[in-house]
Amino acid sequence: MKKIFKIAVDGPSGSGKSTIAKKVAKELGIEYIDTGAMYRAVGYKMICEGISKDEIDRIKEMLDQTDIDFNGNDIYLDGVCISDKIRTAEVAKMASACSAIAEVREKLVDLQRKMAEEKSVIMDGRDIGTNVLSDAKYKIFLTASTRERALRRWKELKDKGEDLSLKQVEDDIIQRDFNDTTRKLNPLRKAQDALEIDTTEITIEDVVQTIINSIE
Ligand code: C5P
Repeated sequence: MKKIFKIAVDGPSGSGKSTIAKKVAKELGIEYIDTGAMYRAVGYKMICEGISKDEIDRIKEMLDQTDIDFNGNDIYLDGVCISDKIRTAEVAKMASACSAIAEVREKLVDLQRKMAEEKSVIMDGRDIGTNVLSDAKYKIFLTASTRERALRRWKELKDKGEDLSLKQVEDDIIQRDFNDTTRKLNPLRKAQDALEIDTTEITIEDVVQTIINSIE
């Protein structure tokens, strides 16, 4: 019988979580679950429906009629693929804002746990090792300097045609770090038993290899 195991990957924006987790998933032949994309999906739907982060009743109502799922690395919101719609600065901001709302976290954490049931997965986010999969066998915490993380995001946004200055992107990252680490519900923290890797000056391939070695 094949052994089932879970890998939890946490870290701030731009620390390389999704690129690295995707590669590890491929190498190990297991499923990758991007929980940040799920918060982005909720943020995206709020923007589309003109709902602000303070309209809790409307958010609750919206959540009851929201279906989020993955097919491979693509994310589907209410049956429609939105992978290419959620990587904008506007959606990132709304995702960060809605991730502090209890009802949003409750729904998404529930869904994330269900998605990880009875199979081997690598899941990345902010509260995976400390909350969603706190019993994961392997936990990784990725970091990188603020400047390096801002540079990575700036390049990513530029490639998508978003014309923001590096300073704007860096300010957004600092704000999101602040929101993620200070929110009351499941803030971003390194799990005590997580392996911390600073990705500022090492290549993605080296990080992937370090993770795979730590698992084998
Ligand atoms: O990782 P990504 O930048 O796509 O995440 C978008 C936002 O979703 C983050 O800024 C964070 O506030 C929120 N998030 C979260 N918990 C997770 C994953 C993401 O609060 N597990």
